[in-house]
Amino acid sequence: MRMHTAAATTTAPDSHRPPSWFARLGDILLGSDSLQRLTLSLLGLAGLITATVVGLLCYMASIGVAGVGQIEALATMFLLFMGGFYTFIRSGLNRRFADPTLALPQTVIAQSLIAAGYTMTGSVHGATVIMLALVMVFGMFSLRPAALRAVCLYTVAIMGLVTWWCAHHQPATYPPHVELFNFALTAIVMLAISQLSGQLMDMRTRLKTQKIALQEALAHIKEMAARDELTGLPNRRRMMTLLQEHATRHARGGPRFLVCIIDLDHFKSINDTYGHAAGDAVLRAFANQAQAVLRTTDMIGRWGGEEFLLLLPETPPGDPTTGVARLRDTLAASASVATLPDLRVRFSAGLARYEDGEPIDQAIERADRALYAAKSAGRNRSVVL
Ligand code: GH3
Ligand code: MG
Ligand code: MG
Repeated sequence: MRMHTAAATTTAPDSHRPPSWFARLGDILLGSDSLQRLTLSLLGLAGLITATVVGLLCYMASIGVAGVGQIEALATMFLLFMGGFYTFIRSGLNRRFADPTLALPQTVIAQSLIAAGYTMTGSVHGATVIMLALVMVFGMFSLRPAALRAVCLYTVAIMGLVTWWCAHHQPATYPPHVELFNFALTAIVMLAISQLSGQLMDMRTRLKTQKIALQEALAHIKEMAARDELTGLPNRRRMMTLLQEHATRHARGGPRFLVCIIDLDHFKSINDTYGHAAGDAVLRAFANQAQAVLRTTDMIGRWGGEEFLLLLPETPPGDPTTGVARLRDTLAASASVATLPDLRVRFSAGLARYEDGEPIDQAIERADRALYAAKSAGRNRSVVL
């Protein structure tokens, strides 16, 4: 994941700063594709560890503990292994395989080379067993449990063969009882790694499922936090955000807009006459009708109680206040709630044109005053301030 970020950073086209020499070197060595970079980085890490081990063995050879010729042969084999895989992956040929990281062939060849190294490292051969475990630790993160188990089994088999061969042909350097011990140790470590890899996979699967569930819950919470439960309209908080966004957009050359507050007339008497549930139905019907009648660019939200806030951008075609007039006509023409055929919903509206640079609260307050004026003038009308 980190490599992915690095790739994106070094190749971002809109980056104004020229990439550093380190980033350029990274691009040359690893390419720009994030998955290829990750694969090659892992190979690089393995190469670094291998180089350190070969360095240590060279030191052993220099002080006479290991044979120079054998260590040279071993170093050449590792070099060929690393160089071969690097060239193959860097050329992109690995993409033709189901697993482009080539984790399975890499681990199998690495284990084979370590087993070969075991036979060449003389009196320090016991330490090579650690390398077998290290390769499998890499494998735990890149192989599926079944593949990892297969490599562990292969490792046990090949080490059985190697320890037997060494004990048989070079018993002075590879005493049979030590070889039996090394083999048993390898088998136990491989068994433990196989077991742990299964648990690691379970943990990864669990984490993945939890992550998806959390993402869904978060999306749901965000949706709930922005919506009014009764009408399904954006709530007051969401409308405030939208207003702020429009004010900012207008300051950057976006369209001017009007703020409109609608308050249903004599709503309390609807509740008193038909009951609270009917009042709720009226609010829901009003929300649906308003959404159907307003322009697609207009936005409506529930401001609180029987009040609604409209954001009406001054975008062509037509006058931004016509949507409100159309809504008034629609409500007057027919019943909003089918079960209350005689009820006609009426409303008063206060509109305020947003002035350049003013705080959004100021425009809302003007719309509120306009609404008050509409109520005072006898309701069922719109006033623009
Ligand atoms: P006006 O024309 O002056 O606006 O009169 P009004 O009766 O509409 O205004 P008032 O403020 O007196 O009453 C508003 C009523 O709206 C009171 C309240 O119980 C009711 N109300 C607020 N929220 C809801 C709701 O979610 N559901 C229902 N059914 N009623 C609500
Ligand atoms: Mg009110
Ligand atoms: Mg009212």
